[in-house]
Amino acid sequence: MQLTDSVKALKGVGDKTAVLFQKLNIFTVRDLLQHFPREYDRLEEVSTIDSLKPDQQAVIAASVTAAKPSRLKSGKTLLTLSVRDGTGQVTVLYFNQPYLLQKFRPGMFFYFRAIVRQRGKQLLFEQPAAYTREEFMALSDALWPVYGLTKGLTNRMVTSCIRQALDQIVFPDEYLPAYILQREDLIGLREAYHNIHFPQNLKEAALARRRLAFDELFSFVYMVRLQKGFSEQLPNLYSMPKETITRQLLQALPYQLTKPQLRTLQEIFIDLESPYVMNRMIQGDVGSGKTVVALLSLLKCVENGFQGALMAPTEVLAEQHMAYFFDMTAAHNLPFRPVLLVGSMTAAQKKEAYKQIKSGEANLVIGTHAVIQEKVVFKNLALVITDEQHRFGVRQRESLGQKGEYPHVLVMSATPIPRSLAIILYGDMNLSVIDELPSNRLPRLNCVVTASKRAASWRFLEKEVLKGHQAYVICPMVDSGEMEDSSLENVVDYSASLKEALPSDIRIEYLHGRMRPALKKQIMEAFHAHEIDILVSTTVIEVGINVPNATVMMVENAERFGLAALHQLRGRVGRGPDQSYCIFVASREDEKTLKRLDILKQSNDGFFIAEEDLKLRGPGDLFGVQQSGDLNFELADIYQDAGILKSCSALVKELMETDPDLQLKEHQGLKSVLKSGLLNCLDFRTI
Ligand code: ADP
Ligand code: MG
Repeated sequence: MQLTDSVKALKGVGDKTAVLFQKLNIFTVRDLLQHFPREYDRLEEVSTIDSLKPDQQAVIAASVTAAKPSRLKSGKTLLTLSVRDGTGQVTVLYFNQPYLLQKFRPGMFFYFRAIVRQRGKQLLFEQPAAYTREEFMALSDALWPVYGLTKGLTNRMVTSCIRQALDQIVFPDEYLPAYILQREDLIGLREAYHNIHFPQNLKEAALARRRLAFDELFSFVYMVRLQKGFSEQLPNLYSMPKETITRQLLQALPYQLTKPQLRTLQEIFIDLESPYVMNRMIQGDVGSGKTVVALLSLLKCVENGFQGALMAPTEVLAEQHMAYFFDMTAAHNLPFRPVLLVGSMTAAQKKEAYKQIKSGEANLVIGTHAVIQEKVVFKNLALVITDEQHRFGVRQRESLGQKGEYPHVLVMSATPIPRSLAIILYGDMNLSVIDELPSNRLPRLNCVVTASKRAASWRFLEKEVLKGHQAYVICPMVDSGEMEDSSLENVVDYSASLKEALPSDIRIEYLHGRMRPALKKQIMEAFHAHEIDILVSTTVIEVGINVPNATVMMVENAERFGLAALHQLRGRVGRGPDQSYCIFVASREDEKTLKRLDILKQSNDGFFIAEEDLKLRGPGDLFGVQQSGDLNFELADIYQDAGILKSCSALVKELMETDPDLQLKEHQGLKSVLKSGLLNCLDFRTI
């Protein structure tokens, strides 16, 4: 079996299963092997029945005392077991598995494992896994992988497919030279793939992850270094001396810019007139007011007769920027002639936009990255601003540079990264930091609660809506099929329950990343226009959305998210003069979870939060949380793997000095994979 074979080459995978895999973006055996576990599961210590607590996963060792089959109104069959150990009795339920009556005879002994549920006063095990004593003993030390799933695809199926693939694949030779493996203390490729899926213990898993993260960062750094102009200073072909209109707008704004906003603007304006092209990043926490800085910079560019471009990671954000520039242009009679360029436009609309950009009729292009890069020919592009996406910054210089001369580059990000890492990722980029929020803001009030406070939180949402405000609720999942683990909230079911619980005149809608772009756009516009009161969403809402009337951000299963991501999410509220609130709902009550979430209450500083999150992460937390959308790698994490990133930088530099064309024998493996697309350096497909 080859890596490039379709997953259908696996035994047991037919057309139907292949379609399910496609939903997870898995087409080939290679994709499957790169579908890394989200976490590992292991059996808990056995609990006594009298010590069970609701909503916690537990294993009990108990004898069956009674087994009663019945039929529900829906037609489903139900098997109700009564089981006991020396300390008490609980009820075990199985739906639609009538044959289990044969298995669970009174008097027999099993280990049952499930999340404990409470119904009234009674504790229940629903659909638990049941093991005989022998089965349980065999499993009790093992770790097994937990994968991201989709409806119809079980964890067991994915696991067995991956096992099969690992057994049958013709594995490529190790491509990293021995001296790198040795110096960086890395395990081999084959071992890494095996152990990331099926580790004996957490240490093995960590070593496997380290090797794969290394490859990912190594290829990333290598590609970045190949970019033209990575750390070269290029001459400034677009000097911008005029500033009258820009100054006028500064005076006319309804608010004073904050000190760091002014300082940043100053730094940008100096760059624009310097002998060299600007290459600058603005780091500013969510809500610090980066957009107006972008607007003023683009205004200066346009005032001097050049074209500018503003790129956003999503269509929703691009449209929001477009609306903002449009309103400002009308209100202040600005010389912008903007056009929008996004993927969902028709071919005719795009063609018209291209025409206007080429002729110079349009002097500002606002759109999504991919689209602006594609086929656009500019008349005189002098400034490119990228919003909310780090990783794109490194490529745009070259790809847009090819379209003409090198424009000034400004990257805006809310993800704080230390300067030492920024240099590795972006070359000699200058840094401006906006480290102060506008003064008209009241600090957000944060609370961390458990699921038992959900009803009260919903009442609170209702109260805010009655005051005329809007709210977000974030759930980690799209629909109920994505996970076997039913404890994770999903936007579809959740918004249905919320609608049932709140008065019917409260307008509730949901939004998630799998919806058609046009529908997403429509819903976001309705939320902007206050035609929706509560938006239940996945983290697609995370970046950049600005609806100042929204005052509540409620996050379900908050423990599933990285603190950096939660911090980004809460940045969606507290953007206007009203008091805002964040409610983080933890579905686990262990001390570690609560301690982690508590950091959000201690600080509003994104940098501090990212660092504290890192400190709290233990060896078991390999990939348990979703980090923020910016700067995401498949496995690597720039904070956690800062050390690896630095080694990669040094190695790549050395390689480029000693053997730039990769001609040495020991670099042949590297050369072939860097050319052909790596097995595991996902970046070749994603940057
Ligand atoms: P971000 O930095 O997260 O992109 P935005 O640029 O979207 O933040 O700004 C958030 C909100 O703050 C917007 O509604 C914007 O109009 C407002 N704003 C920006 N600068 C100031 C300021 N100096 N004083 C008051 N409000 C401001
Ligand atoms: Mg923004």
